[in-house]
Amino acid sequence: MSEEFSFNTKVVHASLGIDEATGALNTPLHLSSTFHQPDFDNYHEFDYARSGNPTRQAVEDAIAKLENGTHGFAFATGMAAISAALLTLSQEDHFIISGDVYGGTFRLTEQILPRFGITHTFVDMGDLDAVAAAFQENTKLVYVETPSNPLMRVTDIAAVARLAKEHDCYTFVDNTFLTPALQRPLDLGADLVVHSATKFIGGHSDILAGLVVTNNEELAKQVYFMQNSTGGVLGVQDCWLLLRGLKTLAVRMNVGTDSARKLAEFLQADDRVKEVFYPGLASHPDYDIQQKQADSAGAVLSFDLGSEEAARQFVNHAKLPVFSVSLGAVESILSYPARMSHAAIPEGERLKLGITPGLLRFSAGLEDIADVIADFEQALAYTVERSAR
Ligand SMILES: *Cc1c(COP(=O)(O)O)cnc(C)c1O
Repeated sequence: MSEEFSFNTKVVHASLGIDEATGALNTPLHLSSTFHQPDFDNYHEFDYARSGNPTRQAVEDAIAKLENGTHGFAFATGMAAISAALLTLSQEDHFIISGDVYGGTFRLTEQILPRFGITHTFVDMGDLDAVAAAFQENTKLVYVETPSNPLMRVTDIAAVARLAKEHDCYTFVDNTFLTPALQRPLDLGADLVVHSATKFIGGHSDILAGLVVTNNEELAKQVYFMQNSTGGVLGVQDCWLLLRGLKTLAVRMNVGTDSARKLAEFLQADDRVKEVFYPGLASHPDYDIQQKQADSAGAVLSFDLGSEEAARQFVNHAKLPVFSVSLGAVESILSYPARMSHAAIPEGERLKLGITPGLLRFSAGLEDIADVIADFEQALAYTVERSAR
């Protein structure tokens, strides 16, 4: 697909796999771990499925196209993808990383990589002076997650990538929350993108998957080496489901974004809600950067109801969203960061990060947003009665 097509068009065609022999529209499920070779001297492109499988290749090619990269890699989970990307580092290397990264990435950074002599500095990526000050002689890359979770802080990808280049470092971006439908970090100067495709790209809460995309030949070689060597590849059936999810990515992101914005405006106008965190609101401190670097602010927002009891009453009375961890699905998902995604962080630390006892996160699905707002309206009534007692 060439550049002149819009993302909405590209995403449909990148995920088709028209079979030349039969005309079948969809990439076949090549449930084969090994491949017969033509003869003693001639070998096919594929030999053993950890090294490559045609169904996986289809999803890897599709995501590479959509992120405007040259090489894509599919992994069993987002964490397998992030691990492979960060394991391009070696002993005595250092990297700079967002202080509010995803919990699994935090654990990998804090508890696993240091055992192999790979060190890090956590920084507030919104503070470019702090980022600039964090470079050391052995710094090799800067790892950004934007918007971050659950407070939806935004990092200026182009500015950080510029700083990184000045220091001869790579920039890696976790693009899980916006997907290439809304934000394309490689176009902004990043060198590598990672995804938990478990979330929006898969989009149906049915599979775990991770993706890496780069436009850098050297990084591509290293990530492929790591994928093939450590073996966390995405299974063939899940590759097929991911291709299927990908076809509707643009419409899902557009509907989710539109709903999240309407809900954020509704919540912001309501006195019972203490604060709303959504980078698509003009009142959000990072609104301008978000507008500049992404097509929209995405389908996830957080809001603070002021107390644990108010959050409890709200969750117990909201009827439409499922109450669970994760995000990025056809169904709306409500989650409670203090006891779910961020439970492992000690309470004091959590409060410092702004993860208060009244904070809830919401990932907009495809329900009619008017129904969700009506549901929120009735659930909010319980939060007031309780706190008034
Ligand atoms: C969920 C998530 C991950 C981890 O992905 P898994 O597929 O659960 O391994 C990484 N980054 C972000 C931003 C996530 O939301």
